[in-house]
Amino acid sequence: MTRLPSVDWEPSCEPLERVDVLGIPVHLAADYGLWLRQRAAQSLGTHVVTLNSEMTIQALEVAELGQIIRKADLVVPDGAGITLYLRFLGRGNYHAPGIELVESLLATCGDWPVFFLGGAPGVADQAVAYWQRRRPDLVVTGTQHGYLNPELEAELERRLQALQPCIILVALGVPRQEVWIRDHRHLCPQAIWIGVGGSFDIWAGRKTRAPRWMRKLYLEWAYRLYKEPWRWRRMLALPLFAWRALVPALLGRIPAPKPPTRS
Ligand code: UDP
Repeated sequence: MTRLPSVDWEPSCEPLERVDVLGIPVHLAADYGLWLRQRAAQSLGTHVVTLNSEMTIQALEVAELGQIIRKADLVVPDGAGITLYLRFLGRGNYHAPGIELVESLLATCGDWPVFFLGGAPGVADQAVAYWQRRRPDLVVTGTQHGYLNPELEAELERRLQALQPCIILVALGVPRQEVWIRDHRHLCPQAIWIGVGGSFDIWAGRKTRAPRWMRKLYLEWAYRLYKEPWRWRRMLALPLFAWRALVPALLGRIPAPKPPTRS
C-alpha cells in the first residue's frame, strides 16, 4: 500500500480508553483523526463505527450489530446523545461526527488510495467529484454503488482484493454497512474501513446537513426528522436512549466505572 509521506504526526498509536454506553463501547481520544492516521501508517487494519443513540438502541435489539460494534477497533461518539452521556458521566467533551471525521481524514491522507462504496447509482461518483474539486490530488481508486446483486458483489470483492485501497468508505446505512465491513474486511486487512451512512448523499449535494446552529444545540436529529419524516419510527430510539442512558447518567445512577479498559 502507498504510505503517507508528509503528514506531521508521531507514528505511535496508543490504545484508547473505552466507556460503555448501555453495554456498547465508545472510545475516548483527544484526536480521532490523528489516531486513525497513526493506525494506517502502521498498516493496522481498522474498522471504525460512528456511534449515535439510535444505533446504540438498535445494537441492543439486534445482537449481531452489538457484537460487531464491540469488536470494532474504533467507536467514535458521532451523535449528540453519546456526547451528552459522556458529559453527564463527567468524562469530558467528546464529539466526532462521522462525516467530519472522514472529511478530516480525506483532507490529510496524502496519496493513500480511497475507495467509495455505497449510495444509489451515481451518488458515489458525484461524491468523488465533490472531493476532486476540494482536493484535486486525492487518489480515488474506485467507486461502486450500494445496490449490489450477487454478480456485482463478486466483482467488487475481486476489485477490492486487487486494489488494496488504504481507506474504504462504506455508505450502505446502519446496520448493513457494519455487517458488510465485518464480512469483507479480510479482503483488505490493512485498510481503514468506515461505515459512513448518508455522507455520500451530502457530498453529492442530494441531501444537506443541519445548519451549524442546530448542530451546536444538538438538534441535528430534529433537522433529519423534518427532512425525512419517514424516519420517525427509527427515531423513537432517541427518547428511549434518553430514558435509559441520559436520565440515569444525569442523576448519577450509572454505576461507578471499573478501572479503564483499553483496546
Ligand atoms: N444504501 C445503499 N444500499 C442499500 C441501502 C442503502 O447503498 O442497500 C445507501 C443509501 O442510498 C444511502 C445510505 O445507504 O446513501 C444510507 O444513508 P442513511 O442516511 O439512511 O444512513 P444511516 O442513517 O443508516 O446512517
